Amino acid sequence: MTVVRTRFAPSPTGFIHLGNIRSALYPWAYAKSQGGQFILRIEDTDVERSSQEAVDVILQGMRWLGLEPDEGPFYQMQRMERYREVLAQLIEKDAVYPCYMSVQALDALRDAQMKAKEKPRYDGTWRPEPGKVLPPVPEGVKPVLRFKNPLGGVVSWDDKVKGRIEIANAELDDLVIARPDGTPTNNFCVVVDDIDMKITHVIRGDDHVNNTPRQINIFKALGVEPPVYAHLPTVLNEQGEKLSKRNGAKAVTQYEAEGYLPQAMVNYLSRLGWSHGDDEIFSTEQFLAWFDLDHLGRSAAQFDEAKLKWVNLQHMKMLSAESLSAAVTPFLLKWGVTPDERLPAIGQLFKDRCDTLVVLAQWAKGFYQPVDVPVLELEKLMNPAVKDAIALLITVLSARSEAQWDTAHIALDLKEVLSKTGLKMPQLAMPVRVLMLGTTQTPSLDAVLSLFRKEDVLSGLSKA
Ligand code: GLU
Repeated sequence: MTVVRTRFAPSPTGFIHLGNIRSALYPWAYAKSQGGQFILRIEDTDVERSSQEAVDVILQGMRWLGLEPDEGPFYQMQRMERYREVLAQLIEKDAVYPCYMSVQALDALRDAQMKAKEKPRYDGTWRPEPGKVLPPVPEGVKPVLRFKNPLGGVVSWDDKVKGRIEIANAELDDLVIARPDGTPTNNFCVVVDDIDMKITHVIRGDDHVNNTPRQINIFKALGVEPPVYAHLPTVLNEQGEKLSKRNGAKAVTQYEAEGYLPQAMVNYLSRLGWSHGDDEIFSTEQFLAWFDLDHLGRSAAQFDEAKLKWVNLQHMKMLSAESLSAAVTPFLLKWGVTPDERLPAIGQLFKDRCDTLVVLAQWAKGFYQPVDVPVLELEKLMNPAVKDAIALLITVLSARSEAQWDTAHIALDLKEVLSKTGLKMPQLAMPVRVLMLGTTQTPSLDAVLSLFRKEDVLSGLSKA
């Protein structure tokens, strides 16, 4: 049996967003699920638009999500020699020819075709045919090399997403595969790479469907069986437009900074174009066990940040106290906050109200650094009776030993203050929450206070 080999072949011409990284996730998952290999190839031949920063975002984003390649990254710019070698084979096979048509002549041809409502295509002027007299070679002009596309018949493939696709060769013109300076064009490089890297399954965005028949013809000219293709439908943004940097799509790495868990992101992205029944929340291991090319969706998927947050919340809830604490720690450290052994318990208490690690880190921070008390909000909750009750609470809590500094004992202390002052719980709890965490919306007060150090509670309450 042949080993499955898939690849992710991004062009580092902009910061990859979620739509792009899905084109890494699926081939990675397919290779992993089949015991195969996943290859990373950086398509950096557009020198003007490619950048190292964009490469870094690709590498960092993939590392974050755990999409580690088994081979690569390979860089196309480092493979130019190889492309020239294969080009020479095509010349040898008489599968290419030089074309001297000037840019102006091509433009004029195009305009005329558009006017006649025809599909713009190269007209084969320079294609040698038996008995055909070619125009005289213009002086001082370097030609492009064009691929001799078959004249008749159809190119077809069984796309794993789109089903059978057939294109008449008459629809395809002769593709430029090398520029006048000899540099190869992308479609040609992709084929050479897919052959050399022994790719068995090409899983990529459907913006490449139009390239596929041309690539298949080049495979055939080189005498190599083309791979299986799966063209993934577009990912749309929340406005229903194609996800792109131009309309505000964020770089993948931004989601890491915003506090999403990688396993939640993998879970969310996996369902943007694939499904396993109605399963919504699953681990990466489950995803790999289930993933196949037979359940890829045919219609465009729409990104939904609220849904992503919900998925992230579910994954945060599923983590053990220690794992959640470890995940939130880097965010605290970044803010100069050094957490301690209380963090796992803080995480457990607050995780239900946090859809990102950043939100949880913000809560946790309040246990390590005094919060800014919102004075106006506090004033609304304060009156002489409340002030007296807080003073009494300070006295009662001061008498608690460290050994009894826990939820149950603090609950007793709160009750005692209420019964002695005649206040209702919210009248006392609201201002205490505001003093300790800057907001009235917190989990149960006894649990919250028990996670503060005693001296921090006493000093916090004394600000009343
Ligand atoms: N480099 C192409 C892109 O970023 C992908 C080429 C391919 O997957 O065949 O869109």
